Amino acid sequence: MEFRDLKKQYSVLKKDIDEAILKVAADCNFILGNQVKALEEELADYVGVNHCISCANGTDALSIAMMAWGIGKGDAVFVPDFTFFSSGEIVSHCGATPVFVDVDENTFNISADSLENAVIKVKNEGILMPKAVVAVDLFGLPADFDAVRKVTDKYGLLVLEDGAQGFGGRIGDKMACSFGDISTTSFFPAKPLGCYGDGGALFTDNDGLAELIRSIRVHGKGTQKYDNVRIGLNSRLDTIQAAVLSIKLKALKAYELDDINKAAGKYTERLSGFVKTPVIPSGFYSSWAQYTLKLKSREQRDCVQAALKERGIPTMVYYPKPMHRQLAFGIGETYDFDCSVTEKLCDTVLSLPMHPYLTDDDIETVCENVITLI
Ligand SMILES: *Cc1c(COP(=O)(O)O)cnc(C)c1O
Repeated sequence: MEFRDLKKQYSVLKKDIDEAILKVAADCNFILGNQVKALEEELADYVGVNHCISCANGTDALSIAMMAWGIGKGDAVFVPDFTFFSSGEIVSHCGATPVFVDVDENTFNISADSLENAVIKVKNEGILMPKAVVAVDLFGLPADFDAVRKVTDKYGLLVLEDGAQGFGGRIGDKMACSFGDISTTSFFPAKPLGCYGDGGALFTDNDGLAELIRSIRVHGKGTQKYDNVRIGLNSRLDTIQAAVLSIKLKALKAYELDDINKAAGKYTERLSGFVKTPVIPSGFYSSWAQYTLKLKSREQRDCVQAALKERGIPTMVYYPKPMHRQLAFGIGETYDFDCSVTEKLCDTVLSLPMHPYLTDDDIETVCENVITLI
């Protein structure tokens, strides 16, 4: 059994994907070819925003947002303590200070109450200037943007939606990657919409920001290629990746999101009552980047994981360590962090095999084993 079965997906989409890749090779339009522009339009249309600008990966997408806003030294950017390293790394990378905020125990996403407390604390200290929040759509579930916006509106902060795992999710009719002042996603192969290498994108409704982002993406270009008006990056999405993504986006829309939600429903139906299953608040729709259980303790979690592995069932721990404990940040003593929920989640979470091509038999095998082991 595969944790995320990309081989199965390829076998289903092979004819179209092979054709699309070979066309790029035949045309030799490898850098910012027509397929990139076409994909950006398809993505903007799907997400329901004015602009999509693709780039080299999801981490660059976040960095480009920081650069476009001019965030740097002396600025505080609030980041959930329970997320992938990138969400905080890009804050340090631009010279600003990440301030880690606890998450909600049920949704795994940033807690608006903890966010407000952290903002007040930073303001009272008077050393850093609160500038922005990175709200992550963890495991495919959009963050609670209504609650986040109440806080950011009150304190005048920018919202960066890190939708690396959230693409395809929504709140009501509003799609993930449309909630931030800038939103980003990643096309890393295992994400809800993945390519065959690295890729990423930014989304915004703001025309001026979109232009700025397009410039930063290509060495801070001005009106022409060899006219450079700011310091930028080289961060483009390959045409081959865009060609693959166009095919995969069609599959995502046509059936993958439906199928992965059906798989999640079956897991939850079978496992609830035995173990804590993921909670999707009413009105929210997840793209299920992960299906994550909460066990009772680190010992139980580690035991269950080891026993499942022995039975050929792959599982993952996302994430074993709170961001504020990552050595790289080295700021553990600067703030009196209260991230007790994150601490507990890092000890108890376990993600099960999850993808749109899971069979009922696979789901039953996983559930049977989980139930007998807890
Ligand atoms: C994967 C991921 C990223 C980074 O994306 P890359 O394309 O790997 O650079 C950022 N944030 C979150 C939450 C992610 O899961």
